[in-house]
Amino acid sequence: MSIDSLTNLLNCAKTRNNYVVGFVVQGWEDASSFVRAADETETDIILQSGPGLRKNMPLELIYAMFEKLSGETNIKIVPHLDHGENYDICKKALDIGFTSIMYDGSKLSFKENLNQSLKIYELTQKYNACLEVELGFVGYNDISKNKKTSPEEVKLFTDQLPVTAMAVSVGNTHLQNENSAIIDYDLLREISEITSVPLVIHGGSGVSPIDRIKMSKYYGVRKFNIGTEFRRLFGTILRDILINDKHIFDRLEIMQKLKSALTKKAKKILLDTNFK
Ligand SMILES: [Zn+2]
Repeated sequence: MSIDSLTNLLNCAKTRNNYVVGFVVQGWEDASSFVRAADETETDIILQSGPGLRKNMPLELIYAMFEKLSGETNIKIVPHLDHGENYDICKKALDIGFTSIMYDGSKLSFKENLNQSLKIYELTQKYNACLEVELGFVGYNDISKNKKTSPEEVKLFTDQLPVTAMAVSVGNTHLQNENSAIIDYDLLREISEITSVPLVIHGGSGVSPIDRIKMSKYYGVRKFNIGTEFRRLFGTILRDILINDKHIFDRLEIMQKLKSALTKKAKKILLDTNFK
């Protein structure tokens, strides 16, 4: 069994001055591919259950999947609830066994976000679990909806609440199809100078590999969430198989081909974290 805590993985990343990957899971095929890639590259990872997956699969089964996979490897795995929208879903995840949750109060005012995060923080303490929060707002495929993180709010927030990690909005956007994010490094520098809390980038697929290294090496970013790159790869390969291999109809045979491609891509992303 190799289930671990987000704190441990982030501390290791800080010591090595690199980052950990939070893989956004959509099902068994990608989750098992991520763990295989982690195993083969000997790199610890976070398996994340976002709202999309939770609509399609009961949370108990998601956790059971993460737990089963972590039992088959010696690399450390953090089962993480991504974008917990409210107290109830956060509590449910903790009851089931998740060791880490993200409470997403980014659509609330700063004060409401802080108040709700305080309540969730007290909850996580009872379970000895980790808490990621978000300040500012990271939009969904629409850069104009982003609200950049305020360094003053980061200071106010972290002075009152010792969270494990903080997601920030510094030019990153969810669901980006290309590495097109323009990172506001002046803002990121201000934030990283104001707090020692490990920073998290959602929408990591939109951030170029070179920016990922720079943000980690010099600006305290310790976790990148990566999902869209894999959803795009999955869709592209599935379409390719269905169009070009018309004799293949068996779901398991199709999935086997997909898993190979997902594992290969995940290995590349994990090897990219081993920069000097
Ligand atoms: Zn996110």
